[in-house]
Amino acid sequence: MSDGSLLLTGHGRLLTPRPFDGPDPWAILVRDGLFAWIGPLTDAPAADSTVDLGAALVTPGLVDAHTHPAFAGERSDEAAARIEGAPYSGGGILRTVAATRAASDDELRSLIGARLRASLASGVTTIECKSGYGLATDEEIRSLRLIGEAAAGLPIRVVRTFLGAHAVPPEAASAAEYAAVVAEEMIPAVTAAGSAEFCDVFCDRGFFSPADAERILRAAATAGLGVRMHADQLARTGATELAIRLGAVSADHLEQLDDGGVAALAASGVVATLLPGPALVMRDRLPPARALLDAGVTVALASDANAGTFGAWAAMPLVIGLGATLLGMTVAEAVGAATAGGAAALGLTGRRGVIGVGADADLVAWDAEHEGAFALNLGAVRPSRTWIGGHEVSG
Ligand SMILES: [Zn+2]
Repeated sequence: MSDGSLLLTGHGRLLTPRPFDGPDPWAILVRDGLFAWIGPLTDAPAADSTVDLGAALVTPGLVDAHTHPAFAGERSDEAAARIEGAPYSGGGILRTVAATRAASDDELRSLIGARLRASLASGVTTIECKSGYGLATDEEIRSLRLIGEAAAGLPIRVVRTFLGAHAVPPEAASAAEYAAVVAEEMIPAVTAAGSAEFCDVFCDRGFFSPADAERILRAAATAGLGVRMHADQLARTGATELAIRLGAVSADHLEQLDDGGVAALAASGVVATLLPGPALVMRDRLPPARALLDAGVTVALASDANAGTFGAWAAMPLVIGLGATLLGMTVAEAVGAATAGGAAALGLTGRRGVIGVGADADLVAWDAEHEGAFALNLGAVRPSRTWIGGHEVSG
């Protein structure tokens, strides 16, 4: 594979994610793994090679800023039971914890790798991956290590998040007691192993209280981890306000967010990461995407692919379509939320999710000519060609 410069050209829709407003045909110069120049083809600098993308829709590589890939086992029976009226208790997470603890390193690494490959084949070039199905220090460290090992053999870029506070393990006496273990034992072990960039907490009714979440996330911030939160999904607990107070990079879910929460987010720099997949599967309230956008909040769309509430690992094209059809976003806004928005949710603004000079040269040409295909074809839009760091990858 050559490391020489590459000129990508086309005459179709180019979303950077803003629609490119120069004359057609356009050209993008890639050099040393970065976007080096963007403009009309007639002004393009010379390059070692050229690829013409024709009329294809071109976007930045998608950024999926919220996933849970480190698990074994199968819980599709729970989805059927919920549809027949069984309530969601979250107890199902512990089923996955038992199956994950029982899986060998090879099994778990292979499962994670398959999920990362499916994401990559759907146009995702950066993916956030959480632990959280181990719920014991050695098991959480193992999950983070295996995410890293699975990613090492693949071109997709992975950001790891420690989610020891995903549920209370069966051996713990209480959420508060387990939260203390997460804060005082797990976080030092995770940072010593250098195996995560972020810490997340499932702060919600029946899981971790705002007080437990604050204890954990303050310890994480002190240890140098970035902070993000599962917030206001099942109940309006005030988790969003806690995320703001703690300087979280992102508050995720927000199905139960009210006007006060929207205003609080708008006054903060916290990204709202919305997850229409599980909201749809759970037949839950939808997050107030339109109100958040109208208030000026940076919105990300992510899959939340996980073991029990949304199991699709190639779903980001569908998630963009759901943003437009269910959440009241324009399709261009939804594409922006799945690219630049996702990058913002990972603290990577300007580096990922954007076709701009100096950003990582991660780009997808789609089997479509207009972003409207994400709304029209609901999940059936697929990449035709993908580049990561200026290298073409095969799905
Ligand atoms: Zn989640």
